[in-house]
Amino acid sequence: MAHFNYLPKDVEDELRTNANAIVSSGKGILAADESTGTMGKRLESIGATNDEELRRQYRQMLFTSDEVANNYISGVILFHETLYQKDDAGTPFVEILKKRGIIPGIKVDTGVVPLQGTNDECTTQGLDDLQKRCEQYYKDGCRFAKWRCVLKIKQNEPSPLAILENANVLARYAVCCQQAKLVPIVEPEVLPDGDHDLERCQKVSEKVLAAVYKALSDHNVFLEGTLLKPNMVTAGQSCTKKYTPQDIAKATVTALQRTVPAAVPGIVFLSGGQSEEEASVNLNAINQFEGKKPWALTFSYGRALQASALKAWGGKKENLKAGEQEFLKRAKANGLAVKGKYVAGSISSLQAQGSNFVAQHKY
Ligand code: 13P
Repeated sequence: MAHFNYLPKDVEDELRTNANAIVSSGKGILAADESTGTMGKRLESIGATNDEELRRQYRQMLFTSDEVANNYISGVILFHETLYQKDDAGTPFVEILKKRGIIPGIKVDTGVVPLQGTNDECTTQGLDDLQKRCEQYYKDGCRFAKWRCVLKIKQNEPSPLAILENANVLARYAVCCQQAKLVPIVEPEVLPDGDHDLERCQKVSEKVLAAVYKALSDHNVFLEGTLLKPNMVTAGQSCTKKYTPQDIAKATVTALQRTVPAAVPGIVFLSGGQSEEEASVNLNAINQFEGKKPWALTFSYGRALQASALKAWGGKKENLKAGEQEFLKRAKANGLAVKGKYVAGSISSLQAQGSNFVAQHKY
């Protein structure tokens, strides 16, 4: 009789418990795992310099924000540097988050690289020492991880190679995480760059997600102990046809129904360049959409939770309170959207309508 090497029962239980804790609470995730390079671009946009102390001050503003944020935020994704930073009083950020009941997570991919022989498509690196890094991150307090893969819509893309390779690398990553007791957030992002319509994005998203779940099954990933972080199904950034939040909700939920097993506890959308307001309104419409939705549907937003906060702060100590207030507004708006109770325009933040689109976005 063959002997199979699945995860021990207690590890499965821990993964399932943590995955559910992140999404079943009606809360979502703050993605604050911008790499040093990406953080540099954010800081440059407000005229601030990209040094470690300023990055620390900015993250401190988010992590020590008023307790009310605990009602909306269940987890935070950190970048390696941030995981080991402390607040002004010397308390590690990880401890601050844990004390608030917020689960620390960590970005573990090391970025995208080109796929040879393709039309500018890519895969994501970081597998070599991943198992060891995950074990260390678990010891250091993390309970979930993120790995972002990127797919592009063009005339003949994504190619079968890009779809297969990215699905496979996400599955290998998920296995390494689970063996180290970290819940893997599986992120196959279909970029919004292009002039394609909603229907095209839906079809591509379906093909990508179907390939991802085939690979996760092939690699014996324990689905109950995973989360999915997909793009919402939207038209391309330069598509001239306009769609309503209800159109986006229908296309998004339909694509997910067709591809994501009910065993997956939750789907945490990325904001992908949508404005803060769009990200809240679309998430709200998704949760209001009437149809089969066997998973929690919530957020794991970077730009759509931080754009106003970053601008109001502007890199200055005297603006920390103002920045915090902007962050709290978007956290609340998205917390309401998870319940389908966000009224469009009811929470106005500094950058609410401003586009957060960045061409060929890197993280
Ligand atoms: P955005 O919400 O800014 O798209 O980023 C979320 C994220 O973590 C992408 O990996």
